[in-house]
Order: sequence, then structure tokens, then C-alpha cells
Amino acid sequence: MGIVVQKYGGSSVADAAGIKRVAQKIVATRKAGHDVVVVVSAMGDTTDDLRDLAQQVTPLPPPRELDMLLTAGERISMALVAMAIAQLGHKAQSFTGSQAGVITDSAHGKAKIIDITPGRIEAAIQAGAIAIVAGFQGVSQDTKDITTLGRGASDTTAVALAAALGADVCEIYSDVDGVFTADPRIVPTARKLDRVSTEEMLEMAASGAKILHLRCVEYARRYDMPIHVRSSFSQKEGTWILPAPPEGTEMEQAIIAGVAHDRSEAKITVVGVPDKVGEAARIFEALAASEVNIDMVVQNVSAAATSRTDISFTLPREDGQSAMAALARIQDEVGYDKLLYDDQIGKVSLIGAGMRSHPGITAKFFAALASAGVNIEMISTSEIRISVIVDEAQVDDAVRATHTAFDLDSTEVEAVVYGGTGR
Ligand code: ASP
Ligand code: MG
Repeated sequence: MGIVVQKYGGSSVADAAGIKRVAQKIVATRKAGHDVVVVVSAMGDTTDDLRDLAQQVTPLPPPRELDMLLTAGERISMALVAMAIAQLGHKAQSFTGSQAGVITDSAHGKAKIIDITPGRIEAAIQAGAIAIVAGFQGVSQDTKDITTLGRGASDTTAVALAAALGADVCEIYSDVDGVFTADPRIVPTARKLDRVSTEEMLEMAASGAKILHLRCVEYARRYDMPIHVRSSFSQKEGTWILPAPPEGTEMEQAIIAGVAHDRSEAKITVVGVPDKVGEAARIFEALAASEVNIDMVVQNVSAAATSRTDISFTLPREDGQSAMAALARIQDEVGYDKLLYDDQIGKVSLIGAGMRSHPGITAKFFAALASAGVNIEMISTSEIRISVIVDEAQVDDAVRATHTAFDLDSTEVEAVVYGGTGR
């Protein structure tokens, strides 16, 4: 039998008991005849705690040193998991990201994987050992410094490693039983999905569903790696993330896969932009030069003056200050009136591959929002997604109303959140 890569999240290895439970699962997979490679996250809230500690020392930790600090979290869990497996009488060896051959660029805090050279992992497997790899970290090709891949990126380590090793499957273990039709913390009647297409999962992850890291889904699509999302606290079959069945051959597909939400964005409005060729380009060039990622964009006739437009866009809240500064620098050049900043917003998205061939989905979505008294501030769509920006305080109501309108509610409570502080 082939290689299985298993990733265990922070809540699955939060304490000694969790580490022992995870070791049992790993050994059971080994006994079933698979070669097993394990990727671990840091225990519980360790990464946040280490960040807090750095903040107490300095408000602006040097990025190189912050990465050195944060990667210590995964080192702790990988060694303990290896020890727990040894205690069960099986051979295990732990490896840092660098030792596992995770080669990245040098962007500290958000490094991208350039290459994986898993020679030592392959040797460990050959020698009959279970390899335990620290997630979320790598080593820069240029500077040889230790890097991190961004928050939640142990998922990405796991899928990238699974692809490099030619694994049969990448299993992602967390504290819920799989991917749900909405966040069970908001919608207790959310339903577990047995199967989600990679393209739907990409849209869900990009729309704020935190169950999987976005880049891990991109990897899975690129390398055709099946992902099985499941709980380390139960034996239940979870959710399979698989490529969509070829057009025409598909069985009756659900129209809607789920409702996602995101409270991490802010909205900026550039008021009174002269309505001439090239102004929008100038604004977004300034933002691009400051490395600000833009999500939705809307342009309206200005309420304030004629021959002027208002341009609104959303962006990650953490980029808000640098975006405002970049725009302030070009005020005279562009000649706009003023900037408005709003971080009390949330995004609610409806996702489903079936909406391509079903008319009326947008109308039903907006009617559900209206009947819940939710005002829509911005709208954007892709082929298989409709997203709206609403007041942050109304996000929960909007998610619940949409979930009900599309008959996604389960008659029983399926979602159990087994662990985690949700931090
Ligand atoms: N420990 C890292 C974090 O908390 C990586 C991960 O959990 O995936 O972001
Ligand atoms: Mg995670």
C-alpha cells in the first residue's frame, strides 16, 4: 500500500492526552499497512502565545526573528508526537521543515514553497520509520534563513509534501468532522458535506471558510491530490475534496455547497474621483506598489458632485493603514475629494458549482437577505459564487437566513466542535 500523509491541527495536539490519542491513530494507520508521513501544527494556541510574547518584547519584531520564534511551536509538537509513537513500540523520527526539504522564497511570515526535496523523509520511510514533519515552516533558498508560510499553513505543508512524495491521499485532521454547509459555530444545524469539488473548496477557502488553508487547496488542484478532511476526535468519515466529475458524466449535483463568511476585511471609498481615463489605474497602481491585495471593487456615480465617481474596494484589514497612506500620497495627483475607511463590514458568500446552470439563485439569495433585514453594500460574483458585503453586526443573521433559504439546514445537530478555543 502507498503513502498516507496525515496532518494534525493545533487543537488535536493541544495537550499530552491529545498527543497520545494522535499517536494511536498514526500507529493504527501504519498497522493497516500504509507508509505514514505526519505533519503537525503547534500545540493549541502556542503560535498566538508566542506572537503575544514577541509583542511584549517589541512592537515591531524583526521578521526573521519572529519566524525563528514561531517555528519553535511546531518543533515542540513534532518531537512529542514522535516520542508518543516510540512509546507505542513503533519507530518515528521528527524533522523540521528545513530538514524535510521544504524550500521557500525569503518572504518572512508569508513565504511561498518553491520546491520540496524530501530525501530524508523518503529515507526514513525506507528504514521503516514514521516521519513527523513540522508544518508551517521552511528554509529560504537564497538566505538559508528559517521562514514561515503564513497562519494556518500547516495544511499547505501537508498537501505539498503529499504531492512531492506521490502519496495516495492527504488526510487533514482537525476538531470538527469535516467541511460543513456553514460555520457550525454560527449555524448549529449546518450539514456535513460528504464530497466537495476542488473548485468549490477553493471558493469557500477564499471566502473565509477556515477549515482549510487556501494555498493547500490550490496545491491539491494543481497536483490532483485528494484531501480527506476529518476529525481526530472521532472515527467518522469526513469530507472528501476531489476534482469535479467531468462535464456530462456527473450525477445530480447539489446546487449549493455552502455559505461562507469573512470578518477580516475592510472597505475604503475614494470619494469624488475625476471621471477621466486612467484615474482608476493610478489608484490601483499605488495600492499594488504598497503590496495591498484588493478583493471587491465597485465604481459609482458620485453622490457628491457631477463628472466625479466614487470608487470603493475591500482589502484585508491588516493592510488598511498602508493602503490609506498610499492613497493619501496621490491625492493631489489624482484630485479626489477624500477617503473613507470602514472596518465594520463582513462578507457573506454563497458557493456552488450547480449555480452555473440554475437561474434565480441570485434573486433567492438577495430575497433571503432582505427578509432578514440585511442591507447589501457591495456585490461580486464568480461563475460559482455570489458574495455580498454587509454590516459586520449582521453577518450571523445573513449567514443563517441564507442557509435556511437554500434548504441547507439539517433536521438534527450534526456538527460537533470537539476542541479548540477558536482563537
Ligand atoms: N501553527 C501555525 C498557526 O497557528 C500553523 C498552523 O496551525 O497551521 O498558524
Ligand atoms: Mg489550521
